[in-house]
Amino acid sequence: MLYDLIVIGTGSVGSSTGYYAAKRGLSVLEIDSATPPHTNGSHHGETRMIRHAYGEGSSYVPLVLRAQELWNELKRDTQVDIFHQTGVLNIAPKQSIFLNNIITSAEKYELPIEVYDASEARKKWPQFTIPDQFRAVLEKNSGYLKSELAIDTYVKEAKRLGAHEQFNTQVISVDNDDNGFVHVTTNAGTFIGKSAVITVGTWVKDLIPNLPIQPVRKVVSWFEAPKQLAEEIGFPAFTIQLGDGTHYYGFPANKGLIKIGRHQGGQYITKREERLDFDALNEDRTEIEPLLNSVLKTVGNLDHGVACSYDLSPDEHFIVDDLPGKKNIQFVSGLSGHGFKFASVLGEILVAKALNETLDFDLSPFLLSRFNS
Ligand SMILES: Cc1cc2nc3c(=O)[nH]c(=O)nc-3n(C[C@H](O)[C@H](O)[C@H](O)COP(=O)(O)OP(=O)(O)OC[C@H]3O[C@@H](n4cnc5c(N)ncnc54)[C@H](O)[C@@H]3O)c2cc1C
Repeated sequence: MLYDLIVIGTGSVGSSTGYYAAKRGLSVLEIDSATPPHTNGSHHGETRMIRHAYGEGSSYVPLVLRAQELWNELKRDTQVDIFHQTGVLNIAPKQSIFLNNIITSAEKYELPIEVYDASEARKKWPQFTIPDQFRAVLEKNSGYLKSELAIDTYVKEAKRLGAHEQFNTQVISVDNDDNGFVHVTTNAGTFIGKSAVITVGTWVKDLIPNLPIQPVRKVVSWFEAPKQLAEEIGFPAFTIQLGDGTHYYGFPANKGLIKIGRHQGGQYITKREERLDFDALNEDRTEIEPLLNSVLKTVGNLDHGVACSYDLSPDEHFIVDDLPGKKNIQFVSGLSGHGFKFASVLGEILVAKALNETLDFDLSPFLLSRFNS
């Protein structure tokens, strides 16, 4: 069979691509080395934050606003509880570039935010110990996504709409033949399509060896949490930057446990086997301590953790492009630990590009060629 589109890697971005392709009537084949959702990629651990006034730069804002519309649409159409609008509270030193980018993004795109100085923030959120030289920015329209549930929903809906699945299948290589058709070689045979997207996450260099991507082992932990940190009493998701620049993030507690992670750090790895389970390294248990000893003292004991991975690009910004000289083979990479929230819109974009449609978004900041000079 000649597919209109072959999705290589049906995780966060791939499952969304498969869904939007099937929704638009394309014949689509979704391939994955496991059965998504699963714990081998970058999407497990229940939740991912979605922030609109973007601290990583305002060029992401149009994308994230469309992403939010699509998440809302998916929730409405399927009645699956994918998005929780808990608000996101960002706490950081007054001079923080990240915090200032949030304010700039909000001003540029007229997004509603509330800015508090330290004493106001301490009164409103006594759960945090906020130093005087910090401030806090609340974004009420943001919140978190249930990541595995979202992928499960995309996969099921795509199948219902006619997508073909080839799971538990490892892709070995991808290339065009002389007629411009894409040949996807796997351990279960070769599949042929008019176009393909490579959305394989951390291990993209197995298929595109020259990409400047560094796989990083990351951990995230769940701690016992008192009622005052619970989602049901309105406690928000949060990002906290300490004075040394390190960023932490967390989610409102659910069933008595609060999930907290550190954005920076982790271990550079070169093989899948090097992504050791949580607790394999001493620092897995201690990396959150600087936060728990300062701004967030109200959490209890460590309950459990998981290991996951980032596909880090040199500037920590995304790469969304075609393979050089092959317009019908697109790839998304370098999501650098902040890509899940964009999975919906990236899927929509990849399908539009496969159909040669004009895009509403400026993707020039995300081209691979920015690393050439
Ligand atoms: C601990 C942690 C916390 C995070 N927090 C946030 C957050 O709060 N907000 C946010 O927006 N983002 C967050 N992220 C980042 C986000 O989760 C990732 O950017 C996103 O999930 C990556 O999506 P992906 O589609 O590239 O990869 P994945 O979801 O991992 O999908 C890749 C898929 O490709 C498959 N695959 C790989 N190689 C092959 C092959 N050769 N053949 C076939 N299939 C293959 C894999 O099995 C997998 O299913 C976090 C990441 C981590 C690790």
